[in-house]
Amino acid sequence: MDHYAVIGNPVSHSKSPRIHGLFAAQLKQDLDYCTLEAPLDGFISSVKSFFAESSNKGLNVTVPFKEEAWDLCEVRSERAELAGAVNTLYLNDDGQLCGDNTDGVGIVADIKINHDIALKDKKILIVGAGGAVRGVLQPILKEMPAEVVICNRTVAKAEALAELFKTRGNIRSQSFEDICGDFDVIINGTSASLSGELPAISQDIFASGPVVYDMMYRQGLTVFNQWAQDSGASKVIDGLGMLVEQAAEAFAIWRGVRPSTDEALVSLRAE
Ligand code: NDP
Repeated sequence: MDHYAVIGNPVSHSKSPRIHGLFAAQLKQDLDYCTLEAPLDGFISSVKSFFAESSNKGLNVTVPFKEEAWDLCEVRSERAELAGAVNTLYLNDDGQLCGDNTDGVGIVADIKINHDIALKDKKILIVGAGGAVRGVLQPILKEMPAEVVICNRTVAKAEALAELFKTRGNIRSQSFEDICGDFDVIINGTSASLSGELPAISQDIFASGPVVYDMMYRQGLTVFNQWAQDSGASKVIDGLGMLVEQAAEAFAIWRGVRPSTDEALVSLRAE
C-alpha cells in the first residue's frame, strides 16, 4: 500500500486525511493518508525520513512549512516557483524531491466549476498579500480578468506582489484607505477572519453586489462573508471548496487520476 501524509505543526485538526480518504474510496485506490507533525525546527529531517521509506509516496505541506518546502525542493513547477511556497511534495523517477503548489488552481476550480462564475474580463479585488494570496495570483491572472487590484494592511507587501506579477496580467496595488470602485469579485485572502476580525476597508466595496470569496472556512458564515452579505454582496462563498479542489489536484499529481470533488464537498459540509 502507498502512504501519504500532510505535514505541519499543528496538524491534528487537518481535514486532508478525510478528503483523501474519500477520494481513495471513490477511485478504489489502495492508499493510506495520515497526519505528520514535524517539530518546528525539524521539517527537513522529517521530510527526508518520510521519503526514505519506499512506500511513502507524497506529502501535502501546511502551516508553517510551505516556504521551507519550497527551499527544499530540487524541482519546482512553474506555479510553485511563482508562489514561493509548496504544498505538494513527491519524488520523481530520478529520486529528486519535486514541489508543486495546488492552492491557486484550487480556488479557480472552486469559483469556476463549483460555482459557475467566470473570471475572464472581471474586475477582481484581492484583500491580503500573504502566502495564500501569492499562491493564487498566477492561476487567477491566467483566467484573464480585466483587472486585479491587491490591497493589504501592510501596503508594501501588496506593492511587492503587484510588481512581481505585473508581466502576467493587469494587476495593481492599493492601500486599504484608497480602495474604491465597483468590483465583480472580491477575495478575502487575509487571516483576519481566523480571529473574528475584519480588515479596515470600507463596506462600500460591496454596494455594487459583487461575488465575495473568503479563503477561510468554518461552520456557518465567516465574519467577512457575514459582513459582505449584510453590505450588499450578491453571493458569498467560503474556502472549503478551495481546500477540496487543491487536494484533488494533489491527488491527480500523485496518482494520475482525478477524483470528482462533489461528494467530498457534500460530506465535509455535512460534517
Ligand atoms: P499569512 O500569514 O501569510 O498572511 C496573512 C495576511 O492576512 C496578510 O496579508 C496580513 O496582513 C493579513 N491580516 C492578518 N490579520 C489582519 C487584520 N486584522 N486586518 C487586515 N489584514 C490582516 O497567511 P496565509 O496567506 O497563509 O493565509 C491567509 C488565509 O487564507 C487564512 O485564513 C488561511 O486559513 C486561508 N487559506 C485557505 C486555504 C484553503 O484551502 N481554503 C489555503 C491557504 C490559506 P499584513 O501583511 O499587514 O500582516
